[in-house]
Order: sequence, then structure tokens, then C-alpha cells
Amino acid sequence: MIQMYEKLGVSSEVYQYGESVLLELKERFEKVDAVAEFNQAKVLAAMQKNRVGASCFAATTGYGYDDVGRDNLERVYADTFHTESALVRPQITCGTHALTVALSANLLPGDELLSPVGAPYDTLEEVIGIRPSTCSLKEYGVSYRQADLKPDGSIDYDAIRASVNEKTKMATIQRSKGYATRPTFSVKQIGELIAFLKELKPDIICMVDNCYGEFVETIEPSDVGADLVVGSLIKNPGGGLAPIGGYICGKKDYVNRCAYRLSAPGLGQEVGANLGLMPAFYQGFFLAPTVVAGALKGAIFAANLYERLGFHVIPNGTESRHDIIQAVELGSREGMIAFCKGIQMAAPVDSYADPLPWAMPGYESEVIMAAGAFVQGSSIELSADGPIRPPYAVYFQGGLTWYHAKLGILLSLQKLIDAGLTKIG
Ligand SMILES: *Cc1c(COP(=O)(O)O)cnc(C)c1O
Repeated sequence: MIQMYEKLGVSSEVYQYGESVLLELKERFEKVDAVAEFNQAKVLAAMQKNRVGASCFAATTGYGYDDVGRDNLERVYADTFHTESALVRPQITCGTHALTVALSANLLPGDELLSPVGAPYDTLEEVIGIRPSTCSLKEYGVSYRQADLKPDGSIDYDAIRASVNEKTKMATIQRSKGYATRPTFSVKQIGELIAFLKELKPDIICMVDNCYGEFVETIEPSDVGADLVVGSLIKNPGGGLAPIGGYICGKKDYVNRCAYRLSAPGLGQEVGANLGLMPAFYQGFFLAPTVVAGALKGAIFAANLYERLGFHVIPNGTESRHDIIQAVELGSREGMIAFCKGIQMAAPVDSYADPLPWAMPGYESEVIMAAGAFVQGSSIELSADGPIRPPYAVYFQGGLTWYHAKLGILLSLQKLIDAGLTKIG
């Protein structure tokens, strides 16, 4: 084993250091496996209930009328998330697009959107119009208000009460920390927040940005009152096989509006060919609970390994997990680059590439990304990224298998050691 790892660029010291960290993690990993087992059963039951058969895998083209596979996949998603309805489409190009559809379909001029959990994910700033942008919600007369989190990262209920007004139509609740160093919210915490919002305003539409959260727990935000849950298929629920796509699950009326926004008024869910992607969508969803478990083990391993070396990690080594993201504060631009070089070197695709910071569309700061993915930009595959700004945190996520995630983490440490930025023993 040591020779094998040496061949891949990991010294025997780093490998053995990793093994010593892993000795402590047996119980944690067992819990992760138990959640995966539960979620595997949940997905399987939804597939069996909806009688998934070979006819579901046929490709459709053109308008895609009477697309049996597409319509049934949406029922499988709805049953898994325990919602009335679902929109799961390759025509939804990414997570930001799915969120944009959900927001712009359900907000009309004069309405106000509230984020009760502080600033949203970077790309949503332009969607909402927090940063001026062409075609933002703001341009269409939708205003925005934000209740910031308390300094310790907890929800500020007084600030929320002060923010809700007669115009407040919808709340956007981001489950995962995204590019922030706040804690990720548990599904239970999201449920408490939704209950509070509904008490203040019973008809408020609560949408949860579920990116990176799917299958991390045995329940989803839709089990605790969310009206809409939204995410990307090149993250958790695509299981690494979906080459594109997004989903919106929730109450029928709200999902219907999303379908009309995505295609056209009058057309809605009836159009949208599957282009031969159904096998990947079904099989990816089937594999997703196990893939998410592997990614979670990688995140837990990284937290414990880097914490032991004195780095600030979020979540810390022992905290409970509510998404697959692990932030490691490396304290410098050089640290971020070395970490990302290690992740890149571990990749099955583009392992020879050299990650460098660059200006990415949708993001305000320069961003560094390491990814050698079968699907471009897929972050359920092993990847690391982060904006080049203090505290110089790298957000590490994914790994189609636990063993690959492990290699990536060991190589990131190797690169930090080689650059003289940390040492073991
Ligand atoms: C990834 C992500 C998004 C945006 O998804 P893209 O597919 O990158 O457009 C939105 N919110 C959160 C919390 C995310 O992690």
C-alpha cells in the first residue's frame, strides 16, 4: 500500500500520518454509512413505487411530449423528497439557474425577497441584484432584504422579525455555508426557522437552497416545512453520473410556476426533451446516497487531519455534518495554491494541470479551483475551490469514492509540506 501511494506522490510519512488520523474515525464513519443505508432504501422505495422500467430510459428529442422517463423521474424525486411535485431537467443548466427559476417564477413586481440567513451564495448576488446586474430580480421590481446572522453564526430571530413586512413574499434559506465560514444549518434548524417565518407570515413561501446538502441527513428541508427545495444535479443528487441539470421539488402550485418560467407560459412541464440523459439521471440518483457518504468521509478526514496540524477548519473535527463541504483556512494565497495543486494531482482527469487563481464570471473575487472531473465543474467529484481573500479558506468537497477523496487530502498535505507551509511530527 505504501508503495502504491508513493507512486501517486504521497510520501510514506504522510500516508502513515493519515492512517493515524483514520484510527480515530471508525465510529464517525459507521454513522455516515448508516445514513447512506437509510437514504439508499428511500431512493429505492421511490423507484419501485413508481415502477421504473426500461421504457424510462428511452431518449426523446424535439418538444419531448409524453416523455415517460422524464415524467416518472420527477415523481421519483417528489417521492424521495416527500413533495407534491418536482421539476428535474437537463434544461436547468446549473444550481444558480435552478434557484433563479424558482425565485423569478414566484416573485412578482412589488414583492420582497428575504434572506433570513445572511448573505446568499456569491452567484445569487447578481440574480437578486445585490450587485447591479442585467436581468436581476431588482430590475424587475423585486426588492430584497437580508437578516444577518449573529457573530457566532446563529440565526438572529429578532432581526428577522424586524425584516418581515407586508411586501415579504418569499424567503431564501441557504442550507450550506457556500463560500462563507459560517456553520451549515441542520435540517432541524431549518425547520425551526421555517416555523418561525410561517408564524410571522403564514403565506410566506420558504425556498431552501439545498446545494451540497442532499442525502447528508435522513431528512430533507421538505420534510420540515420547506415549500421549495432546489439544487444542482452536478452536485449530490446526480451521483456523479448526471452530466448537467437541476431540480426543484415542492408544492404543486409553486413548482408549476417554475415550469412555466423555465419553458413558457402555457407550456410548462409538458415540454423539454430528455436528450438521452435518463439513464444517467436515474442511475446517478440511485448511487447518490453512497457517493455522498464517500464525500462526507473525505470531509471528516480532512477536518481531523488539518485540525491536528493546527489549521482552523469548519466544521471542526467532531461537529455534526449537514453538507459535504469542508473549509480549511490556510492563511495565505500560497497555502491555497499548494492545497489545490495536491487535489488536482489526485484527479483521474487533468491530473497534469496546474490550478491558478482567475476571475470567474459570477464571482466577485479571484477564485482558485482544483478539479479533474469527468463532468466539467462537477463538485460531487473531488474538487477544491475558494475565493482568494482572507481568511484564505479552501472549500473542499466531493469524491466519487472515499478512496479517491482520501488520496486527494493526502496529496494536498504533501504539497503544503513540500512548499514549507506546514510539517508533521
Ligand atoms: C453551488 C451552489 C450554488 C450554485 O450552483 P451552481 O451549479 O454553481 O450554479 C448555489 N448555492 C449553493 C449553496 C451552492 O453550493
